[in-house]
Amino acid sequence: ATMAQADIALIGLAVMGQNLILNMNDHGFVVCAFNRTVSKVHDFLQNEAKGTKVIGAESLEDMVSKLKTPRRIILLVKAGKAVDDFIDKLVPLLQSGDIIIDGGNSEYRDTTRRCQSLKERNLLFVGSGVSGGEEGARYGPSLMPGGHKEAWPHIKDIFQSIAAKVGTGEPCCDWVGDEGAGHFVKMVHNGIEYGDMQLICEAYHLMKDIVGMDHDAMAQTFDDWNKTELDSFLIEITANILKYKDADGTHLLPKIRDSAGQKGTGKWTAISALEYGTPVTLIGEAVFARCLSSLKEERVQASKSLSGPPAATFSGDKKQFLEDIRKALYASKIISYAQGFMLLRQAAKEFGWSLNYGAIALMWRGGCIIRSVFLGKIKDAFDRDSDLQNLLLDNFFSNAVQECQESWRRVVSTGVQHGIPMPCFTTALSFYDGYRHDMLPANLLQAQRDYFGAHTYELLSNPGTYIHTNWTGHG
Ligand code: NAP
Repeated sequence: ATMAQADIALIGLAVMGQNLILNMNDHGFVVCAFNRTVSKVHDFLQNEAKGTKVIGAESLEDMVSKLKTPRRIILLVKAGKAVDDFIDKLVPLLQSGDIIIDGGNSEYRDTTRRCQSLKERNLLFVGSGVSGGEEGARYGPSLMPGGHKEAWPHIKDIFQSIAAKVGTGEPCCDWVGDEGAGHFVKMVHNGIEYGDMQLICEAYHLMKDIVGMDHDAMAQTFDDWNKTELDSFLIEITANILKYKDADGTHLLPKIRDSAGQKGTGKWTAISALEYGTPVTLIGEAVFARCLSSLKEERVQASKSLSGPPAATFSGDKKQFLEDIRKALYASKIISYAQGFMLLRQAAKEFGWSLNYGAIALMWRGGCIIRSVFLGKIKDAFDRDSDLQNLLLDNFFSNAVQECQESWRRVVSTGVQHGIPMPCFTTALSFYDGYRHDMLPANLLQAQRDYFGAHTYELLSNPGTYIHTNWTGHG
């Protein structure tokens, strides 16, 4: 007779699933492994999991019989249909109070839908963002679980044990919120990742084409920056990439085709921003920058007929300008995170989620691709004021932007004069200037709308009352 002996089951033995199982095993949990193609269970037990406490299952029935109750089952399969297929097969095998967790990159609306349908069957559902790639899954990912909160006490110990740790051992994992909140937060994380990457690329472009630096000098600069407020995983790997040489002894980076790919979560963030009317301009520009880069052949063609400003060598103080670029990057990054948290706030309002923004900053502080010292500062800001309306209104961040402002404007204007595209540096500065203006030219916009479409407008002196003017009549 089989004995219920496993603490948790994991379905999906591709790289993420295997690594997460080994991570849970390291922390003392007995995991039961299963996969659609069952031969992979045997392969895993005989190879990667050899000598561990991991057990395998021959079927879903077998897997369920080996689990302690309430049963906890993690799915780490391809997002979409595979998740629904497994849920459909599991439902008849489970009992009230059992927990299904989806750790894949699911769309947050799918997670909300699954929460609703499983609730009707008295099962608990959790959709968890998992970030940090293969390495994270194996040694400590950032985990962003959301869904049915009744499940949290039953999975908290496992989740927080296997998650990345920062500072004095604080886990980069906490309960995010109801329904698809965990996957929404993961999506925004990925959008912010797009923004951070593009900002670094723009800094590299300026160093290379305006300052005229070679790879070693740029690598050294990123290494230096990694000891400042910019201390982060993405700055660190950028320095390593710049140093990297091929077998032939030359740098690899300039030989890579400048056409960026994308899997979609950055795009989803930008789509959500448009959908909920939140000006998350930097992530939007970062997505579009990838799109523009991928028009490689068209750009090569255009480069033959379209000209920019006459080539001019940079005549300013190079050392000063490098420091300007660093500050422009830092200020732009503050804007990007401020926008990302604006989107989280708007989604919370839209869906009635109560999100803990400080906890989200801490979840991203370690384990994931955007991990950085900077996120600790964001956590501090929400600790000072959990109701903080906007990161830019926190003293630490408003002072930081103020301190960078002159440099930021110098970089943007110098870059523009030299014809260097900087979609994220410039959109960040435009957002900042828009956000800090009490009066924008939207008065004219409202007048135009009323002129041609009788859309009405309000007077500054009487908000809430909408009036129409016959603009072509008199008096
Ligand atoms: P993956 O290639 O996305 O998925 C492979 C797994 O899904 C295999 O176990 C496969 O089973 C199963 N599968 C695929 N189609 C199926 C279907 N129609 N029915 C049942 N099972 C099906 O694997 P992954 O890269 O390890 O990622 C797993 C999940 O984590 C994905 O949602 C991914 O987006 C997410 N994620 C990945 C990373 C990363 O760095 N790779 C990071 C964070 C999150 P078979 O072996 O039988 O084909």
